[in-house]
Amino acid sequence: MTMIFAVVTIAALGLSARWAWWRKPVPGMKVLCYHKVGSPPPGSKLKDLWVSPKRFRAQVKYLLDNGYATLTFSDLKKLHDSGAPLPERSVLITFDDGYENNYTSAWPILRELGAKGNIFVVYNTIGRTNLWHDPATEPWVNMATLEQLREMQASGVIEYGSHTMNHPHLGSLPLEDAAWEMQESKRQLEAALGREMCAFAYPYGDGAYSPEVRKKALEAGYTFDFSFKQGKTLWPWDRASSTIDRLFIRGSDNNWDLELHLTRGASRL
Ligand SMILES: [Zn+2]
Repeated sequence: MTMIFAVVTIAALGLSARWAWWRKPVPGMKVLCYHKVGSPPPGSKLKDLWVSPKRFRAQVKYLLDNGYATLTFSDLKKLHDSGAPLPERSVLITFDDGYENNYTSAWPILRELGAKGNIFVVYNTIGRTNLWHDPATEPWVNMATLEQLREMQASGVIEYGSHTMNHPHLGSLPLEDAAWEMQESKRQLEAALGREMCAFAYPYGDGAYSPEVRKKALEAGYTFDFSFKQGKTLWPWDRASSTIDRLFIRGSDNNWDLELHLTRGASRL
């Protein structure tokens, strides 16, 4: 008996250390943040930013099976502009940076299952590589081309937001340069894609908590600015006071992690 109790206790402690199931459910927007869908290349030091197509498919299927509507940025803008409540079972699937694997691996899965996604694009790296990374720690891989971005947009499955011109640390740039990164990428992406860019994500989250930088992001004309901080932001959104936090999906996250992200705002300690 004592033995069984000990085993159960140890198992419960193990589960509690790995997962945040014991946290209280928290209200707010559910914005998933992905980067790359595929297998990490040799030499990658950021392996957890790669989610396998198998896991990605299982996660999207989990959302749809559980009645979640997958919103686009323009869906969110309509709700925001009209002051409508956010449906409880709604989620935004977002991808940072604009990798080619979003086109080759994520888009076909979303399209097949009937879900929608949103990609934050770095304008100057379209059709190039992730030049902002040091290739010694994170190998360069292809970014989606403009043709691929247009094809995904035309399918009605994918919408876009801006992730600057060059993926800089906005908080370290002179303020005028940071403002240019945000204004110019909006202008260029809108010209290239023929749609309004209502959403912006701060590279590395840098600048998201600087009142000066954030002021420039809102002045650039974005309705929404997304941080790089784990969590859920309340809806109706108090735009003046904070950015929108996100739920970071790691390559090692399973559907139980996903459920905890959605309900608790975090899956781990
Ligand atoms: Zn990024």
